[in-house]
Amino acid sequence: MMPQGIAVLGATGSIGASTLDVAARHPERFRVVGLSAHRDVERLAALCEQHSPAFAAIADESCTSELEMRLATAGLDTRVLAGPQGLVELAELPDADVVMAAIVGAAGLEPTLAAVRAGKRVLLANKESLVMAGPLFMREVRERGVTLLPIDSEHNAVFQCMPRDFDRGLDQVGVSRVLLTASGGPFREASVDSLEAVTPEQACAHPNWSMGRKISVDSATLMNKGLEVIEAHWLFDVPPERIEVVVHPQSVIHSLVAYTDGSVLAQLGNPDMRTPIAHAMAWPERIEAGVAPLDLLEVARLDFQAADKVQFPCLRLAYDALGAGGTATTVLNAANEVAVAAFLDDCLAFTAIPGVIEETLAALGVAPAEDLDTVVAWDQQARQHAGRLLTRYAHRRRTA
Ligand code: NAD
Ligand code: MG
Repeated sequence: MMPQGIAVLGATGSIGASTLDVAARHPERFRVVGLSAHRDVERLAALCEQHSPAFAAIADESCTSELEMRLATAGLDTRVLAGPQGLVELAELPDADVVMAAIVGAAGLEPTLAAVRAGKRVLLANKESLVMAGPLFMREVRERGVTLLPIDSEHNAVFQCMPRDFDRGLDQVGVSRVLLTASGGPFREASVDSLEAVTPEQACAHPNWSMGRKISVDSATLMNKGLEVIEAHWLFDVPPERIEVVVHPQSVIHSLVAYTDGSVLAQLGNPDMRTPIAHAMAWPERIEAGVAPLDLLEVARLDFQAADKVQFPCLRLAYDALGAGGTATTVLNAANEVAVAAFLDDCLAFTAIPGVIEETLAALGVAPAEDLDTVVAWDQQARQHAGRLLTRYAHRRRTA
């Protein structure tokens, strides 16, 4: 067996690290051919020393010469690609059979779409691509006959619990509902009043998962679950009213699929992203992932509760945007990215995040989202509008 070439978009992140960990456990199966980062040159160069890829892409062009220098000093012949176009070239590398799409946020859309258009096997962690551009993304996947495997633990669980031929349509295969589990985040039991003063550090201290900062804040607001409802809709062609969110604080059941005969299939495991990553990397085979075996006696109990859409309005906003369709989810995603970045910079209160999103959605309205230019234009408009709102919210905060 020839090892498969794998390119990792977002190699310096949390998913990137887990992917490279799994790849390194199976050198006979995987050969790292490309790695990318935003601007963390030091970390990217260290990963190049470890994995000797033929190409490294750095999104921030001002870091190009520093990266080239470090690679040369280390005696590597890794070639440097730069800027947004460099990410696209990395996704299209002829030697890459598989592309892990693990850039965070809207920056992931174009390179992920490039991997789809190049006919790669795509491992999708970047849920924002589907939230921004679901219809056109899935159209490309179908037209190119691409194998798209979900990395998000919930969607990977759903994929594992679905019949193989689910793309014939859920009614045809007897699936009635998809149940996404949610840990509830660090503020599951917090009172509404106490959320006002939450700090970025508190929001990023997730009880079960160790993740990048943006997705950690999304988990704390439950926007992450909202984005995942939208992601599930596009991946499995399931209507919003058949997607349920269940809070399950232990994060042992990663999601469930309910069938018309009353059967409910669940996928369980320790909360370690190397399981869904290894599943997708080896599919339809199974490989060792370095994950500790699940000890049910230690887990002892599994709890479930309803998701509180009053305390966590972001979940409601995501369902509403999905219902509105078209560019509404593009706007939801963009306004959320702006609000979360401002919160992480200490410029916006945690509880103001949903307000910025809701006001941006109301101000911009909706249009069909059939092509990339439209999606990019609406993403930009939403960012500008949300950015203007921030000034007002920051002022309110100072005068409060
Ligand atoms: P992270 O912040 O740890 O890493 C993000 C990666 O993207 C880094 O390599 C960074 O350099 C790169 N990046 C950031 N901004 C960029 C830009 N503008 N241009 C190019 N590259 C850029 O994030 P993460 O936790 O690894 O999450 C990555 C993606 O996977 C997100 O879409 C997230 O929602 C999804 N995801 C993550 C987890 C998890 O457990 N971490 C679980 C499910 C889904
Ligand atoms: Mg998830």
